[in-house]
Amino acid sequence: MTRKEILKDVKKVLIKIGSAVLSGDNGLDLNIIEQLVDDMVDLKKQGYHIVIVTSGAIASGKHRMGISGPLKSMPQKQAAAAIGQGRLMRVYSNAFGKHGIYVAQILLTMSDLTDRKRFLNIRNTLTTLMEWGVIPVINENDTVAVDEIKFGDNDQLAAMIANITETHLLINLTNTDGLYDRNPNRSKKAKVIPIVSEISDVIEQAATDETSDVGSGGMKSKVLAAKKVTAFGIPYIIAAGKEKGILRDLCAGKERGTLFLPMKEHLNSRKYWIAFTLRSRGKLTVDDGAKKALIEEGKSLLPSGVIDVEGDFHVGDPVLCLDTGGKILAKGLTNYGAEEVRKIMGLKTSRIQQVLGYKDYDEVIHRDNMAVDKELQHK
Ligand code: GLU
Repeated sequence: MTRKEILKDVKKVLIKIGSAVLSGDNGLDLNIIEQLVDDMVDLKKQGYHIVIVTSGAIASGKHRMGISGPLKSMPQKQAAAAIGQGRLMRVYSNAFGKHGIYVAQILLTMSDLTDRKRFLNIRNTLTTLMEWGVIPVINENDTVAVDEIKFGDNDQLAAMIANITETHLLINLTNTDGLYDRNPNRSKKAKVIPIVSEISDVIEQAATDETSDVGSGGMKSKVLAAKKVTAFGIPYIIAAGKEKGILRDLCAGKERGTLFLPMKEHLNSRKYWIAFTLRSRGKLTVDDGAKKALIEEGKSLLPSGVIDVEGDFHVGDPVLCLDTGGKILAKGLTNYGAEEVRKIMGLKTSRIQQVLGYKDYDEVIHRDNMAVDKELQHK
């Protein structure tokens, strides 16, 4: 299949723009932003819905404060983001404003997305903005997001937004031409891989941090995001953001950058959320019988298959299921808390009532609340 055929039904595009694309020695690069906005306006006229995940707040704030070199502490980064975010929005607002298009600022933290209600609220807001023809411009809420709640970087944030918006294509714009088959800084023979149908170990090795940009993510993080996004059935492209007409060309199916093909068997939105957005709160080790039931037979996890419980989790929390060798098999929402599972593990379902004095569910994790996938191994 040609790229054109692969991308022919794309109508919703999520565009992630990295700091290395947006900023130069003099802070935000207004020419590049205008160039990208012109492209997006053109796509919008062609009937595409556009959502942007943008970096650049910290870079812009840092420049405004006249600081050269990297910012040392988290509070410094957060302060720089607070200074730069307003400027970043103004630049987008002005650039789209020239074409009579409004933008909307959305700042998110991880905890906004792990709460299912807030997740759905964000989805509703985004849907309304798109219906109104307004372009959502999303960034991590850097001023409040540290450690636990930090996405890590905007590559991962974009992967989660791909799920929320149920986008048809994610384009990750950076300062390299795509994913190279070897380190382009070291080898003149290095070539951009035009298409990746499966993210194998070889592909992962090609994505060292070294080959990457100056943003916080690096190529490794972009490929990790590709794994998530393609597991949701969405094509993903890494391409050079400073090149003229890049977005228009990519949407028209031209061979630029690296296209990662969506996985044929992919997770639905809710399972994707469980798999990639939620942080696990505990671990259940399961026996070989349960492993087979989960992996080969598509069944739920019953108490009888659990042989060990780790962590202090509660009903509804995400937990990992491991085999006896410690390999991750699945991630799901538990029907019983850690203390309860410790009491009922190894027992037949019929004994739950007798041991606990109640039985809310037969399964420890119901199949509908479980993602079983080899791609989960990196979580
Ligand atoms: N949220 C950060 C910013 O706007 C960028 C994080 C990243 O580059 O991944 O500056």
